[in-house]
Amino acid sequence: MQLVPELLPSLIQAIDNVIEINAEEVTALDQAIGDGDHVTNLQRGIKALVTQSDELARLDWVAAWQKIGMTLMASVGGASGSLYGTLFVTMSKAARDRPLDLQAFAEIFNSGVESVKQRGKADAGEKTMLDVLIPVAAYLRQAATDSVALPEVLENVARTAIAGMESTRDMLATKGRASFLEERSRGHIDAGAKTSQLMICTIVDELAKRLTTPS
Ligand code: ADP
Ligand code: MG
Repeated sequence: MQLVPELLPSLIQAIDNVIEINAEEVTALDQAIGDGDHVTNLQRGIKALVTQSDELARLDWVAAWQKIGMTLMASVGGASGSLYGTLFVTMSKAARDRPLDLQAFAEIFNSGVESVKQRGKADAGEKTMLDVLIPVAAYLRQAATDSVALPEVLENVARTAIAGMESTRDMLATKGRASFLEERSRGHIDAGAKTSQLMICTIVDELAKRLTTPS
């Protein structure tokens, strides 16, 4: 399997499906400690990407991530729109002039996550999407250093994303709308952590399928 932008239409479609399937559950999470619009916000962005799928498939990663980032920034809205937008625009900048192997992807993704931290003035442990993104970025860099085989990397990325999502349940929210609830924010998984985990696990599943099916 080659990591090429031709994969994007099927990845975007799979993400659209998984967010739709989990929409009610995630909305309930965001209603508990946010304003309940996270899924609607995200779906606006995903639908915009669905319509751009064919075009995205013809670009290289630098151009594709740039376009994805700009589209998400313009369409998602809410706190999450500018954060997801920043993630992809920064990944595009970091991707310049390099072949996409695990080492390169780990560094590129890490740059993206660092830019989300800066944009949101947030870090791990604040009950946000960063509690999924930061551990996944750290694991990818470790896996690249240790030259872990791709099937094992994919499995561990999924496991790390799920653990990160679960970890937000007992955290006190100190960023975003949930922080207004103070102690009452505990006991609920963060909606953005949940959708980040769902999207990461979906990408991993799709890539794993391609590893086992000859193309
Ligand atoms: P809004 O909070 O503006 O209504 P959304 O509902 O679309 O935006 O997104 C909320 C999600 O965004 C939260 O669940 C959280 O994961 C994430 N989030 C909010 N603020 C921050 C921040 N400062 N840094 C990182 N992630 C954040
Ligand atoms: Mg919201």
